[in-house]
Formats: sequence, C-alpha cells, structure tokens
Amino acid sequence: MRIAIVSDIHANLAAFRSVLADAEAGGSLDALWCLGDTVGYGPQPNECIQTLRSYKNVTIAGNHDLASCGKMPTDDFNEAAATAAKWTESELSDSSRDYLTELPMVIEEGDFTLVHGSLRWPEWEYLLSSEQAQAQFELQKTRFSLVGHTHLPAVCREDVAMPSAPATADDGVRVELTEERMIINPGGVGQPRDGDPRASYALYDSEAATITFARVEYDIPETQAAMQQAGLPLWLIERLAYGK
Ligand code: ZN
Repeated sequence: MRIAIVSDIHANLAAFRSVLADAEAGGSLDALWCLGDTVGYGPQPNECIQTLRSYKNVTIAGNHDLASCGKMPTDDFNEAAATAAKWTESELSDSSRDYLTELPMVIEEGDFTLVHGSLRWPEWEYLLSSEQAQAQFELQKTRFSLVGHTHLPAVCREDVAMPSAPATADDGVRVELTEERMIINPGGVGQPRDGDPRASYALYDSEAATITFARVEYDIPETQAAMQQAGLPLWLIERLAYGK
C-alpha cells in the first residue's frame, strides 16, 4: 500500500493539492493518514476537509481542529492563531464541524500510533527534546509513532538523542522500517516552519517497508491572496513565504 502521511494542512488547499499530486505521481494512493490541524491559520478549511474525506483516510484531531469546533478554548493560543481559529469556526459548514468534532485524539493503525503532539499530551506538546522523546517511547505501544504539531520534519530513533539531525528528514530521504522503534514527523503541509517554505509530507510504502520524506513547491501567492481576502492576520500571510 502507498499511504501519504500528512500533518498540519492548516486549510492551505494549494499546498495540500500539490502534496497529493506529488504523492500520486508515483502511483495511486491507498489512503491518507492525517496527523491533525487540518484547519486553522489558512483560508480554505471546508475545501481541505472535503479533499481529505475524498480519500480513504485515518485522521486525528489537532489543537486547531479542536479550537475551531469549540472543543478547546483559545486562551493559550497566540493572538493571530486565536483570530484565525475564530474565523475558521465561523466559516465551517455543519458537515465540516461534525467531522472535526468526532475526530479521535490517538489512533493505532497496525505498527503505527498516530497522534498530533505527543502521547502524554496529544493536543499540545511539541515533541522536540530527548527527554520528551523518551517519554513518548515509554507510552508508545506500537513500533512506530507518527506525530505532527511542530511543523518540523524529523526522525527520532529510540537510542539516539533527539532531535536527530534535521538532515535525517530532508527532501528525498528514505527511512527503512526495521525492528528499531522510531518517532516520525512528516513536517507541515500548509505552514512549514523549518525555513523551507515548500510543503512537507512523507510517503509510506508498506511493501517496501519505507517512509520517504518529500518537499513540494506550491503556489504560495495563491494561498496568501485567499488569506488576504478572508482578512486573516498579516503575520500568518507573510510567514508562508519564509517557511517560519
Ligand atoms: Zn499545526
């Protein structure tokens, strides 16, 4: 099976479509695994949810999904994020809201556990340090866990300090899946934060037992124009160009 692992789409339809086109250039996709924050920040929440749902998908909730359907207060969000969450809430169709409301926080899928932030704090923890990775491995019942939330592509192996070098998750890097336990982050589709503005995702090939990281160009001005039209905060519009 070919499965695209996507996270933090953040209502950025141009980025999401480019990722799907890139993934499908190598063959059809059997499923999408989506690690949360499908909405928030970006201008096309309903369109991104519809696109996601047009595939067989395994999807969990992120903090922005929860905030946008009223399941989490935005008190701990920064001002721009809170503004975007309120805008998203007002834009969501009934069907999109119902979909987000029913998303689980954690799902086990074969050898993988999918969670947005971390197993000890699914909707909120940024998994960045060795200590945090250790705590994740202790709670992780499957061989691999897939996380998002940081918008930083990463591979963390159990016996190697976190963060393992960013180069381990660069564009085109292929990770062989063996008995070794790992935490893998595909990076952010709709708002990369590692200084590379291209959309980030990973492709799981179950027959080859590999996960391959990929970066994809997309029409950033198209998303920025839609954000401007929606009246979303300027800082959120500008950061897309820098990947920060
Ligand atoms: Zn996010």
